[in-house]
Amino acid sequence: MPRPLITDLSSADLAAWCLAQGDRSFRAQQIRRWIYGKRAMGFSEMHDVPGALRTALEEQFDYFGGAVVRHQKSKDGTEKLLLELRDGEQVECVLMREDDRRTVCISTQVGCAMGCVFCASGLMGVKRNLSTGEILDQILRLDRLLSGEERITNVVLMGMGEPLANLKHVLPALETLNEKGGLGLGARRITISTVGLPEKIRELAAHGTPFNLAISLHAPEDELRTRIVPVNARIGVEAILSAADDYFAATGRRVTYEYCLLAGTNDDPAEARRLAGLLRERNAHVNVIPMNPVAAVAWETPSEPRTEAFVEALRRGGINVTVRKRKGADIDAACGQLRLSELQRTT
Ligand code: SAH
Repeated sequence: MPRPLITDLSSADLAAWCLAQGDRSFRAQQIRRWIYGKRAMGFSEMHDVPGALRTALEEQFDYFGGAVVRHQKSKDGTEKLLLELRDGEQVECVLMREDDRRTVCISTQVGCAMGCVFCASGLMGVKRNLSTGEILDQILRLDRLLSGEERITNVVLMGMGEPLANLKHVLPALETLNEKGGLGLGARRITISTVGLPEKIRELAAHGTPFNLAISLHAPEDELRTRIVPVNARIGVEAILSAADDYFAATGRRVTYEYCLLAGTNDDPAEARRLAGLLRERNAHVNVIPMNPVAAVAWETPSEPRTEAFVEALRRGGINVTVRKRKGADIDAACGQLRLSELQRTT
């Protein structure tokens, strides 16, 4: 077992630890300022923290949870990191720049158990959950790629893994992002993307912080959805929509439905009309994602006119639609691709 990461501790945990070291609890806020505000690269930089406490930090915790093994920069300002965790597993995270927005996309598991047919992350199943610190660590690493005046403005849990299958570690990480002494990001700037696990959606609603919820629907009916998202066989579209309605009722947050367009599979305008029928009466938003090509899978992205026709059919059906822009296409930025290419290179 490696040592705990400093980021595995909540602010209350850290305050309690400071007291247990014979110091004062406000030291916790000082330490967190170095981590989340001042972009320190290690405990040794925390020069307003007393030496004895700094030594105890060095002895008992690791500062970063992984080493940067690859760093790619796209022409469009997107940057991607492949991190090697302390047990040798690898995860990916991405920084996207768009006008004033600095959005980071992070992973919650090593691999993924959901097995969506077009996704690189699920090709080799799930290895393990990330700890809270390992989730936050990706943010720290990406934050340190920013220039002095740049700040992370948005966080999306759309990297590798199913966030709601690891809520136990995801929620404390999101709370730290949300807290003033952490990154201080409003809940509306944090988006959790899920394959759609109804019980977990309700658990998240009960937690009470109104994070944005995005549901990867990809099809308006079960037969088609199960072909694309195999876990749908034991869930079903109806149960997902009903949980999403509960989420909206509990948080007041409009739910986003992601729809990854796969050529010849779910991109018929008839599916768009069906989807519009499902969502029209709901306060919903659809994010259409033309599939990012993945080397190892046979599925393909539709042509632009085909995508346009789908989007148009949704609009005519009275649905709010956006089409996701492709970012970092020249650096394998779609989730799971970099780890996959690394695994293929080394095995
Ligand atoms: N497991 C969660 C979060 C990770 S995936 C989920 O299913 O939502 C984040 C989003 O990227 C999902 O909507 C997923 O379907 C989509 N995605 C995965 N592979 C993709 C690809 N090759 N092209 C486009 N979108 C992809």
